[in-house]
Amino acid sequence: MPHENYLKNNNIWQVNAKKGDSWMWKQLLKVRDKCLVLCGGIENLKQLINSCCVNSKVQISGLYSSLSPSTTHVAWHDTVWENLCYPKHSFILWLTVNDKLQTQDRLLKHGIIQASVCKLCDGTSESRNHLFFECKLSNFVWNGIMEWLKFKWRSCDWSALLNWYSFRLRGKCIKQKIKSMALAAVVYNIWRERNNRMFKLKNRAPDVLIKNIKMDILVAFLNGSPSAEDREWILSLC
Ligand SMILES: [Zn+2]
Repeated sequence: MPHENYLKNNNIWQVNAKKGDSWMWKQLLKVRDKCLVLCGGIENLKQLINSCCVNSKVQISGLYSSLSPSTTHVAWHDTVWENLCYPKHSFILWLTVNDKLQTQDRLLKHGIIQASVCKLCDGTSESRNHLFFECKLSNFVWNGIMEWLKFKWRSCDWSALLNWYSFRLRGKCIKQKIKSMALAAVVYNIWRERNNRMFKLKNRAPDVLIKNIKMDILVAFLNGSPSAEDREWILSLC
């Protein structure tokens, strides 16, 4: 039976398996659900699929290795995957580290758009390194979060920052984990803000953005059942 018959008026992202559906169809939906969990949502998965397209065709090998991050262990692996992060934060951080986000400079290079202008500062052209964190808005947000967490780190140079995260932030103590979580939370929220400004014409002020990121970090931290001492430490920052 062709898949259109299963989909009827539903789209592939929302349809659920029903009694009587074929084994193959149920397997396809299971794979879809696993990918959605791994990527942290439909939009993230769609973006990953887009990033694996060459000449409008999905490169299955690229998609497979993208969805199997543990097959390659690189220096930043722990920063991205083995911390207290939300899956959607880890996923966007992973795309960022790999420079796979569909930033405007990439789209411009492929002739998809005519100009590249950062939506956060209306200034320089939008590249991964500009967004994280050369841009004056993201720079302000990153330093605001670092200051809140009482970390001395202030550099906004992406490669220096990632190098520091990969080689110097190796401890397993809770404060080290929070540093990794902070990077993922800031990158995710900056990217979300950029998308909201670009596609929904909605702006959050930098202070509000900082507040939202603090809340993300706090909630994830408290949900991780911290010790009484760690709990007291994080609450003392509020
Ligand atoms: Zn900017």
